Amino acid sequence: MKQKIALKHEFVEFIPGELKEGTIYISIRFGTASHLCVCGCGNKVVTPLRPTDWKLIFDGKTISLEPSIGNWSFACQSHYWIRKNKIRWAAQWSNDKIDAGRAHDQWAKDRYFGVTDAADDLPIPAQKPEIVEPVEAKKGFWQKLRKKLWSR
Ligand SMILES: [Zn+2]
Repeated sequence: MKQKIALKHEFVEFIPGELKEGTIYISIRFGTASHLCVCGCGNKVVTPLRPTDWKLIFDGKTISLEPSIGNWSFACQSHYWIRKNKIRWAAQWSNDKIDAGRAHDQWAKDRYFGVTDAADDLPIPAQKPEIVEPVEAKKGFWQKLRKKLWSR
Protein backbone atom coordinates (compact mmCIF):
# COMPACT_ATOMS: atom_id res chain seq x y z
CA MET A 1 0.00 0.00 0.00
CA LYS A 2 2.93 2.29 0.62
CA GLN A 3 3.74 3.29 -2.92
CA LYS A 4 4.86 6.72 -3.95
CA ILE A 5 1.94 9.06 -3.91
CA ALA A 6 1.79 12.58 -5.16
CA LEU A 7 -0.84 15.03 -4.08
CA LYS A 8 -2.30 17.89 -5.98
CA HIS A 9 -2.98 21.02 -4.03
CA GLU A 10 -5.86 23.36 -4.52
CA PHE A 11 -6.19 26.73 -2.89
CA VAL A 12 -9.82 27.26 -2.06
CA GLU A 13 -11.84 29.68 -0.02
CA PHE A 14 -13.93 26.96 1.57
CA ILE A 15 -12.87 23.35 2.04
CA PRO A 16 -15.42 21.35 0.00
CA GLY A 17 -17.62 18.86 1.80
CA GLU A 18 -16.55 16.09 -0.53
CA LEU A 19 -12.83 15.75 -0.93
CA LYS A 20 -11.23 14.17 -3.95
CA GLU A 21 -8.62 11.55 -3.23
CA GLY A 22 -5.12 12.74 -3.98
CA THR A 23 -5.94 16.41 -3.52
CA ILE A 24 -5.12 18.60 -0.58
CA TYR A 25 -7.36 21.61 -0.19
CA ILE A 26 -5.96 24.69 1.43
CA SER A 27 -7.96 27.60 2.73
CA ILE A 28 -5.72 30.48 3.62
CA ARG A 29 -8.73 32.48 4.70
CA PHE A 30 -9.71 29.93 7.30
CA GLY A 31 -6.18 28.81 8.02
CA THR A 32 -6.79 25.15 7.41
CA ALA A 33 -5.99 22.36 5.01
CA SER A 34 -7.75 19.09 4.43
CA HIS A 35 -7.17 15.90 2.46
CA LEU A 36 -8.21 12.28 2.46
CA CYS A 37 -5.76 10.02 4.26
CA VAL A 38 -3.28 8.98 1.61
CA CYS A 39 -3.39 5.31 2.58
CA GLY A 40 -6.72 5.14 0.82
CA CYS A 41 -8.80 4.50 3.92
CA GLY A 42 -10.99 7.46 3.01
CA ASN A 43 -10.72 9.24 6.33
CA LYS A 44 -10.69 13.01 6.20
CA VAL A 45 -7.55 14.57 7.62
CA VAL A 46 -7.84 18.15 8.80
CA THR A 47 -4.61 20.00 9.47
CA PRO A 48 -5.20 23.43 10.99
CA LEU A 49 -2.56 25.95 9.98
CA ARG A 50 -1.57 27.56 13.24
CA PRO A 51 1.64 28.26 15.13
CA THR A 52 0.84 25.32 17.38
CA ASP A 53 -0.30 22.96 14.66
CA TRP A 54 0.88 22.77 11.07
CA LYS A 55 2.64 25.21 8.90
CA LEU A 56 2.31 25.34 5.18
CA ILE A 57 5.23 25.93 2.90
CA PHE A 58 4.28 27.04 -0.59
CA ASP A 59 7.21 27.44 -2.94
CA GLY A 60 5.12 28.70 -5.83
CA LYS A 61 4.69 25.25 -7.31
CA THR A 62 4.32 22.74 -4.54
CA ILE A 63 3.27 22.66 -0.92
CA SER A 64 4.80 21.03 2.12
CA LEU A 65 3.34 20.60 5.57
CA GLU A 66 5.28 20.64 8.80
CA PRO A 67 5.38 18.61 10.93
CA SER A 68 4.43 15.10 9.85
CA ILE A 69 0.85 13.88 9.84
CA GLY A 70 0.14 11.08 12.28
CA ASN A 71 -3.34 9.67 11.86
CA TRP A 72 -3.38 7.87 15.20
CA SER A 73 -7.11 8.21 15.55
CA PHE A 74 -7.72 6.20 12.38
CA ALA A 75 -7.52 2.43 12.17
CA CYS A 76 -4.79 2.76 9.54
CA GLN A 77 -2.46 4.70 11.90
CA SER A 78 -0.78 6.22 8.87
CA HIS A 79 2.13 8.48 9.50
CA TYR A 80 3.61 10.52 6.69
CA TRP A 81 5.01 13.79 5.58
CA ILE A 82 3.79 15.94 2.75
CA ARG A 83 6.89 17.30 1.13
CA LYS A 84 6.65 19.20 -2.12
CA ASN A 85 3.33 17.50 -2.89
CA LYS A 86 4.84 14.06 -2.34
CA ILE A 87 4.12 11.64 0.44
CA ARG A 88 7.00 10.40 2.46
CA TRP A 89 6.09 7.59 4.79
CA ALA A 90 7.39 7.78 8.29
CA ALA A 91 7.86 5.04 10.82
CA GLN A 92 4.80 4.03 12.81
CA TRP A 93 4.91 5.13 16.39
CA SER A 94 4.57 3.02 19.44
CA ASN A 95 1.83 3.99 21.88
CA ASP A 96 4.40 5.52 24.20
CA LYS A 97 5.57 7.77 21.50
CA ILE A 98 2.06 8.76 20.55
CA ASP A 99 1.48 9.75 24.17
CA ALA A 100 4.71 11.70 24.18
CA GLY A 101 3.61 13.43 21.02
CA ARG A 102 0.31 14.38 22.57
CA ALA A 103 2.09 15.67 25.66
CA HIS A 104 4.28 17.74 23.42
CA ASP A 105 1.25 19.13 21.61
CA GLN A 106 -0.28 20.11 24.91
CA TRP A 107 2.96 21.67 25.99
CA ALA A 108 3.21 23.68 22.76
CA LYS A 109 -0.39 24.86 23.08
CA ASP A 110 -0.04 25.77 26.75
CA ARG A 111 3.09 27.67 26.00
CA TYR A 112 1.57 29.46 23.03
CA PHE A 113 -1.48 30.47 24.98
CA GLY A 114 0.62 31.55 27.92
CA VAL A 115 -0.42 28.81 30.33
CA THR A 116 3.17 27.90 31.04
CA ASP A 117 6.48 29.41 30.21
CA ALA A 118 8.48 26.35 31.05
CA ALA A 119 10.73 26.92 28.10
CA ASP A 120 13.54 24.91 29.61
CA ASP A 121 11.89 21.55 29.77
CA LEU A 122 10.90 21.25 26.17
CA PRO A 123 10.27 17.57 25.58
CA ILE A 124 11.79 15.99 22.52
CA PRO A 125 9.71 17.30 19.66
CA ALA A 126 7.80 14.13 19.10
CA GLN A 127 6.30 15.35 15.88
CA LYS A 128 9.66 14.78 14.25
CA PRO A 129 9.92 11.13 13.31
CA GLU A 130 13.05 9.24 12.47
CA ILE A 131 13.81 10.59 9.06
CA VAL A 132 17.35 11.68 8.50
CA GLU A 133 17.19 15.39 8.07
CA PRO A 134 19.87 18.05 8.11
CA VAL A 135 18.52 18.88 11.55
CA GLU A 136 20.25 15.79 12.89
CA ALA A 137 23.66 17.19 12.13
CA LYS A 138 22.79 20.35 13.97
CA LYS A 139 21.62 18.41 16.99
CA GLY A 140 24.90 16.58 17.06
CA PHE A 141 26.71 19.85 17.06
CA TRP A 142 24.71 21.18 19.98
CA GLN A 143 25.11 18.00 21.93
CA LYS A 144 28.83 18.17 21.47
CA LEU A 145 28.90 21.81 22.44
CA ARG A 146 26.84 21.07 25.53
CA LYS A 147 29.13 18.25 26.53
CA LYS A 148 32.07 20.55 26.13
CA LEU A 149 30.49 23.23 28.26
CA TRP A 150 29.51 20.78 30.95
CA SER A 151 32.84 19.05 31.12
CA ARG A 152 34.68 22.25 31.86
ZN1 LIG B 1 -5.60 5.97 6.29
